[in-house]
Amino acid sequence: MIFDLSINQIEELQSERLRAMLAMCARGHPFYRRRWSEAGIDVASIRDLADLERLPLTTKQELMADPEAFRLRLPELPLYERALWEVLYTTGSTADPTPVYNTTHDYHAYLFQSRRVAEISGIRETDVIANLFPLTQAPMGAFLRSTTNAYAAGAAICAALPGAAHGAFGVHRPLEYAVHMVQVHRATVLWGVPSFVRRVLLRAIDEKADFTSVRMCAITGEASTPAFREELRRCLRALNAAGTGVFDRYGSTELGAFAQCREESDWHNPAPEIQYHEIVDPQTGRRLRDGERGMLAVTHLDRRGTVLVRFAMGDIAAIARSPCPACGRTGDRIVGPIVRGSDLVKVKGMLVNPSALLGALGGVQGVEEFQVVIRRENDADPYSMDEMVVRVACAPGLRAVIEQQITEKSVAAVQVRPRIEHVEAKEIYDPGRETKATRFVDRRSVTRT
Ligand SMILES: [Zn+2]
Repeated sequence: MIFDLSINQIEELQSERLRAMLAMCARGHPFYRRRWSEAGIDVASIRDLADLERLPLTTKQELMADPEAFRLRLPELPLYERALWEVLYTTGSTADPTPVYNTTHDYHAYLFQSRRVAEISGIRETDVIANLFPLTQAPMGAFLRSTTNAYAAGAAICAALPGAAHGAFGVHRPLEYAVHMVQVHRATVLWGVPSFVRRVLLRAIDEKADFTSVRMCAITGEASTPAFREELRRCLRALNAAGTGVFDRYGSTELGAFAQCREESDWHNPAPEIQYHEIVDPQTGRRLRDGERGMLAVTHLDRRGTVLVRFAMGDIAAIARSPCPACGRTGDRIVGPIVRGSDLVKVKGMLVNPSALLGALGGVQGVEEFQVVIRRENDADPYSMDEMVVRVACAPGLRAVIEQQITEKSVAAVQVRPRIEHVEAKEIYDPGRETKATRFVDRRSVTRT
């Protein structure tokens, strides 16, 4: 078992896999072939994890700009390493969602990783998982992978299919359905975006639904705080649930999920065989010491679809490579708090690119001033759902047509439907008092503490 090995033994194994992965990239990865040749790097000279620091970081923007260039192209590989199994999109909501390609090999690797996650976080084959993730316009990793996680654990799964309606088939379902489904299947694990999981619990309390089968909430896709997780436990207690476990799953489409071995603890790298993590200075690419806070960067060690080397996640955290004080497992752990350092903003669990949105709204004719505000639906309730409000100033006669245009452009740019408020121009920007207008305001950081 990998977690019985010492960190040095694990890193030796990682170095060996790194050499093989880099050799494949040197043969068939368009982006890195170009990048390394431009930088004059002989990648064969990268022999171990220490040498890896000499390779440049890869940014999210580089992946977004040309995702096709990140796919390994090696026609000599066996079918199962080449066949495209599934495509996930990193956001499902930016103007240009980024595809991450997974071959059969990568799908198996994710099953392997998920089985570890299940072992570490205590998902069992007797569990019934309620997938509460939204049905989005582009396939979202968390949604598709909920089934993979269930298969890997040998558990059962059902899906509530919430989300903003789109398409002609009318397959999205309302909140009440989620409450119904949990009862019908006697679900034991609620799996979803934190604010939506809480919505389901609150509705269940209102309806006096039978949630006594539920023993755990597994939340991901949006930052949550200890106070928020305690709020989920309060709801579970109010429902007389079988358990009050709340697992905060840190993860991403590019690297999958990390696992907590107990609530409120660090996040284990569940599969050191397939990915290596470092904390880096995002400006220089220099690796920081264990325990120092900086940007998390991931290197794939055994992938065949989209392959990333020293990929800067945009999130700020620290790393520990000593055995876990809670469970004794070796390998690396991500130490929080994890802070999203990227310029992308999460709204309703989906990444939104503010500049794409502002660019689109800037083109609406007849708008005097506008401002986008991300806030909680209910100011008095720091745990309520995110809301995107577009405050707009225009002539009263234009309001209806401008509302329609703003809604259309917002949905096209970031796939979030805004609430529109009409205000006086000087409420957004008073040239007598401010040097420039503030176009994008995220009010949530002050309300959710
Ligand atoms: Zn542990």
